[in-house]
Parts: sequence; C-alpha cells; structure tokens
Amino acid sequence: MKFTDEHDALYKTVKEFGENEIKPFSEEWEKAGIYPAHEIFKKMGDLDLLGITKDPKYGGTGLDYSFSVVFAEALGHACNASAIMSIGVQTDMATPALDKYGSDLIKKEFLAPSISGDYVAALAVSEPNSGSDVASIKTSAKKDGDDYIINGQKMWITNATQADYFCVLVNTSNDSVHHNKSLIVVPSSTPGLSVGDKIDKIGMRASDTAPVYFDNVRVPQAYRIGEEGAGFTMQMKQFQEERLFLTASTLIAMENCIKDTIEYCTERKAFGKSILDNQVVHFRLAELQTELEALRALTYKACDRFVDGKDVTMLASMAKLKSGRLIREVTDSCLQYWGGMGFTTENPVSQQYRDGRLQSIGGGTDEIMLQIICKHMDTLPKK
Ligand SMILES: Cc1cc2nc3c(=O)[nH]c(=O)nc-3n(C[C@H](O)[C@H](O)[C@H](O)COP(=O)(O)OP(=O)(O)OC[C@H]3O[C@@H](n4cnc5c(N)ncnc54)[C@H](O)[C@@H]3O)c2cc1C
Repeated sequence: MKFTDEHDALYKTVKEFGENEIKPFSEEWEKAGIYPAHEIFKKMGDLDLLGITKDPKYGGTGLDYSFSVVFAEALGHACNASAIMSIGVQTDMATPALDKYGSDLIKKEFLAPSISGDYVAALAVSEPNSGSDVASIKTSAKKDGDDYIINGQKMWITNATQADYFCVLVNTSNDSVHHNKSLIVVPSSTPGLSVGDKIDKIGMRASDTAPVYFDNVRVPQAYRIGEEGAGFTMQMKQFQEERLFLTASTLIAMENCIKDTIEYCTERKAFGKSILDNQVVHFRLAELQTELEALRALTYKACDRFVDGKDVTMLASMAKLKSGRLIREVTDSCLQYWGGMGFTTENPVSQQYRDGRLQSIGGGTDEIMLQIICKHMDTLPKK
C-alpha cells in the first residue's frame, strides 16, 4: 500500500477525532454500558468520515478502499473498541451492500443519512440457532402485495438499541439455502419490530448488543437490496469488508498494549532492575511487535488486492484469523507483565484483554476463517 499525502491527512483527522471525541469519554461509556452513537456519528458525518468509499451522489467521498483501511487503522487511536466496532458496523458492515446494490430509493432514504451521520445502522444476520452457519437462518420474508411480511428473530446485534434501521438477511423463498435469501432494509420504527434487553458481556461493554424480534413486520418490497435470492452472496461479499475493517482496527490497540507495557515495565523495578531489563520480557515484546508488523503487511496486501478488484476472501479470512489470535496473545502476554496491576479493571491492557477476545468470535469465528481458508487452498475433498 502506498501512502499519499491524502492518506496521511485522513489518518491525522481520524486519529485526532478519536483522541479528542472518543478516548476521553471511554471510561464513562464503559461504565454506562453504552456510548452515544448518534452524537458521535453526526460529528463524524460533518467531517465526511462515514462515507469514504461510498457513492458521492449520496454524500460519500468515492475514494478507493485503501482509504477505508487507513480510516480503520487510525480509529484505533480512539482506544475504545466498543465505539470503534460500532463505527465499523456503520461504515463497513451494514452499508457496503446497500451502497453497491441498493436502488436509488433506498440509497436516498437510508444510505445518505447514514453517511451524514443522521442515522445509525445495524447489520442483522445472526440468529439464536444460526451464527457460524449463516445459510441455516430461519427469519423469513413472505410477499404480500407490494410488501414483505417478516417474522423471526435476530441475535447479537451491535448498535441494536440505537439503530434507525437494520440491514436484515432473510429467507424469501424455498429455493436452496444459498439462493433463497435477500437483504432487506427494515426501519427500527416499523410496527412489529422490537429490540430486546442489552446483553451483558465480558467486554465491549460500551457497545449495545441485543436481540431483535420481527413479528409480522411489514416493509415494502422496494426496501430489498439488489436481486431477490442474491442476499447470501451479497452478505458473503459484505463480510470481506467487515473482516478487513475488524483486522485493521485492532492494529493500534495491539501497538498501544505493547507500548504501554514497555513504559510500565521500564518504571517498575524488581530484584534491583526494571522488569524490562529481563531479556525474557524484552524479547517477548519484540516478538509480538514483529508479529504485529507481519499482520499489518498481510492487511495491506489484502487491501491492495481489494482495490485492484480481485477476490480477497482467502486473504481477508487469514488476516481476520491472525488478528483474533494475535490480539489474544498480545493482550495476554502484556497483561502478565503488569503483575497484579494487570488484573485490575481500569487498566488499558486489561480492557483490551476483555474486548479483544471478541475478535476470534464476531464477524466469523476463527474456525470459520480456517474453513474458508481450507476451501480456498483447494484442500477440502470435492463434493
Ligand atoms: C459482541 C458481539 C457482537 C456481534 N455483533 C453482530 C452483529 O452486529 N450482527 C450479526 O449478525 N451478528 C453479530 N454477532 C454474532 C457473531 O457473528 C456470532 O456470534 C458468530 O458468528 C458465531 O456464531 P455463534 O455465536 O452462533 O456460535 P456458533 O456458530 O454456535 O459456534 C460455536 C463454536 O463452534 C464452532 N464451530 C461452528 N461450526 C464449526 C465447524 N464447522 N467446525 C469447527 N468449529 C465450528 C465455532 O467456531 C464456535 O467456536 C455478534 C456477536 C457478539 C458476541
């Protein structure tokens, strides 16, 4: 990836935004169990940060995907994984399909206010009995005149309690599981749609995660994104951007963990010398920094291919897998070197330890990433 002055300028703007508008409030939001998505999105929309790659006709900037990766990486300076994930849902998880395949009507109605920061978006794919196995979802949308009637339940939905609309994956026919699905935009105010209580989580505590229920929810068929039956394929494509965002957005978190730990271990003394003065500690941190740079290189390589219009399913899955594994290693090792202080809650490393655990689960688990990589290595038996 070649960084131009424009990339550097974007990085600086996003870094400053995170440092000034998110980081100072992190502790307060973690305690409250939620963060003010509308307020933050509006400020970001005013800075043109929510539609970097999106269609300029609807307020986007129309830049290539390398700017999205710079955006995601720079957001790491906000030092609040919950807010970063929520912003990623808005920019790289709930809206890519809408931007690429949506009609003028739904782009005007939903994409434009998402880019301006007036609307909060959420992506509703997972269900209580269908997480890894996306094809097995049960939520259905049946045609009734010009409308769809949606019934079912979604689970684990980020931004759910604040969302103005959901990008929902549903079954629209009895066709085979990869050809019977559609993505439909459903406003949260639609009668019959209700959001359950926030789920109490071990990390990402400032992010509102909740179930969403659909009880005879009527929406116009015009709210469908793209062709009927193409939802599964569109969602699989949308996942590539989600996985690249999730990877790029953890790089700075890991870097900060290592930096903070070096600082602490330099100050902290035992047996007459600083903790960092023990080669076993210093070497471990050097090894983790090396791994981090390797992950950054992989992320940039995937980004380059994506910008060139190539399929990045395997590289994005590898990057997501590696980031999930590495953030667990980095935070666990770093926390160890803080001793008892590492086990306290109000410590940046212990917060990353809790928050970072999600990286191996959300957006497709490590095992699912391995399954995808295997398929692309052509090593699975052909059916
Ligand atoms: C905080 C949080 C936020 C989330 N946000 C969203 C959101 O905004 N929108 C949304 O749609 N979803 C969201 N999710 C859901 C997330 O994508 C799923 O939790 C994830 O895909 C795993 O699904 P599951 O929890 O049903 O686990 P399961 O699918 O039940 O898997 C359980 C375990 O079995 C393993 N496993 C499953 N199949 C195989 C296999 N074939 N081989 C080997 N191992 C296997 C899995 O890897 C996992 O370790 C969120 C989840 C969390 C926790």
